[in-house]
Amino acid sequence: MIRLYKLSKQYPSGHRALEQVSFHIRPGEFVIVTGPSGSGKSALLKVLFGNEQASSGRAVVNGRNLERMDRRTLAGLRRELGLVFEDSKLIDRLDATDNVALAAEVAGHAPTSARDRAGEALARVGLPASLAARPGQLSAGERQKVALARALVNDPVLVLADEPTGGLDPDASLEIFELLREVNSEGTTVLMATHDPDALSLLHCRTLLMYQGRLAEEEALRRASL
Ligand code: ADP
Ligand code: MG
Repeated sequence: MIRLYKLSKQYPSGHRALEQVSFHIRPGEFVIVTGPSGSGKSALLKVLFGNEQASSGRAVVNGRNLERMDRRTLAGLRRELGLVFEDSKLIDRLDATDNVALAAEVAGHAPTSARDRAGEALARVGLPASLAARPGQLSAGERQKVALARALVNDPVLVLADEPTGGLDPDASLEIFELLREVNSEGTTVLMATHDPDALSLLHCRTLLMYQGRLAEEEALRRASL
């Protein structure tokens, strides 16, 4: 699903956010990327969803080669991915259902079918299928569930989540982790960047540790946590 080979990212400022990162994620895996603030977790995810370009190395996401990506291929890849960020990035003037339906319309579904899909996606995350509240009227936890529903509305093969519980209290965080686990158990590959230790203890999944743009040895990490 994701294959990285010696991927490096240097910003124009000269700062090296990623240094020779290599790993392979198989379809159906749930993988956490963790590490201190500034270690390159977000930079890694931005490269994976094509928001930023790597400086060198190779990255293949769902069979698409990121270095050779024109705008059409990038648009195609984006439709196969579900993205969740720390800030839910919902549109304030649209209600929750419309926020989710819009993502389905952008992917090419007709308005009625987009609303049906939105209802199903909202139900999947435990919210009412028709949710007329606007983002500002929802709690932070509910907003993240809507953001997750939006990420799921086009049946992505891969969900990339960057600190999806960053602004949430422990209970709301737990709900998001559980939902992501459910999504994964239904077959979707999930890659989540988080520095929340609760995620690690709750999910017991493969964990990649980043430190100063590099990937620490996975095996060493696994042994250390035994
Ligand atoms: P994390 O998500 O692990 O906290 P980031 O991936 O956001 O870390 O950042 C990795 C490093 O890259 C940090 O040192 C950060 O300051 C730097 N960085 C991020 N974005 C830019 C940018 N646009 N220009 C220069 N440096 C950046
Ligand atoms: Mg980050």
